[in-house]
Amino acid sequence: MISHIITPDQCAACRLCCQFTRASQWETPSLTPEQVNFFRTRGIPLTHRKNGSYTFALQYDEDSLQDTCAPCPLLDHGAGCTLSRQNRPIECRIWPLRLMNTEDGSLCIAIYRDCPAFQNNETRERLIREASGPLLPFLLHLAKEFPASIRPLHPAYDVVWTANSSFPKK
Ligand code: SF4
Ligand code: SF4
Repeated sequence: MISHIITPDQCAACRLCCQFTRASQWETPSLTPEQVNFFRTRGIPLTHRKNGSYTFALQYDEDSLQDTCAPCPLLDHGAGCTLSRQNRPIECRIWPLRLMNTEDGSLCIAIYRDCPAFQNNETRERLIREASGPLLPFLLHLAKEFPASIRPLHPAYDVVWTANSSFPKK
């Protein structure tokens, strides 16, 4: 998460982005090879996607008829993420921003619309300004070096920057 804008208290009351329905399993963070080794040696369950990238494996209640949530294996429901910030997957560190591809294949930066911490216009606009300003070089570098972090654009996300835009979209 963007920790200098979102407070730990806001996330403690939410945990939304650390739990996944079956339909939202695609949202689990991609892991670098170094992180795969790090988590394997600690016995964290991992799985891989069709594109070969690794992520956390989720444990669902197989008896439930509903699409219940499964927590990330690193989530402690009381204390939150059990990883130090530096050991968290990069997609967790930039959340609620995501690198995405639009339908024409262009890179874009998008924000998860329903993150409760960004329902306030002022906070949301601050994040959008950062994503298209000071954070942009880092995000573009990430897209180049770690393409597994780029996801197809999803309806739950609003595009706030594209390679063709000279100013942030709202
Ligand atoms: S969805 Fe937003 S407020 Fe909720 S835990 Fe994630 S970053 Fe925090
Ligand atoms: S690694 Fe931590 S921040 Fe990322 S989804 Fe899991 S519990 Fe949440």
